[in-house]
Amino acid sequence: EWIDLTEVMDHVIQKVKPKAKSKGLDIRVEQPDRLPLVYADGLRMGQVFMNLLDNAIRYTETGTIQVQLRQEPSHVVTIVEDSGIGIPPEELPSIFERFYRVEKSRSREHGGTGLGLAIVKQLVDMQGGTIQVSSVLGKGTRFEITLPIGGDSQ
Ligand code: ATP
Ligand code: MG
Repeated sequence: EWIDLTEVMDHVIQKVKPKAKSKGLDIRVEQPDRLPLVYADGLRMGQVFMNLLDNAIRYTETGTIQVQLRQEPSHVVTIVEDSGIGIPPEELPSIFERFYRVEKSRSREHGGTGLGLAIVKQLVDMQGGTIQVSSVLGKGTRFEITLPIGGDSQ
């Protein structure tokens, strides 16, 4: 189906807003007035955005969560960036593995199963997209997802 990722993202943000607000976190969205439609699965992309925002809120204590959607020649790029606890560089290559969680102390504190990002990666791969992460410990984490405008046959 042809979907508008700004609509998918707006819907997810409405759902997570109360949780962000209860932690005093602002969610800022930057998007063009018109984003090209992408050929992808709206429910799956909703799940992807939900997992990323859930993490961003869960692993951030103060500051802002920035969401950006933009067009590139053949892709739509979505960025979710937080000002949270960050991920140690040696752990970054493992975070898309199933059940992987960064250090046990923080896991006890934050709950969760360690499946979120494995599912995110699988859903993005399935649709011909890519996902990349960069993070600075104690400063924040940024996820960047690209989806081909014409779907995975492109
Ligand atoms: P759940 O299955 O409920 O999502 P989870 O959040 O622990 O559990 P993932 O979403 O797969 O699992 O994330 C894996 C690990 O990566 C997390 O345990 C956390 O330590 C780290 N992580 C993920 N996103 C962030 C983020 N935005 N900031 C800091 N650490 C993160
Ligand atoms: Mg998670």
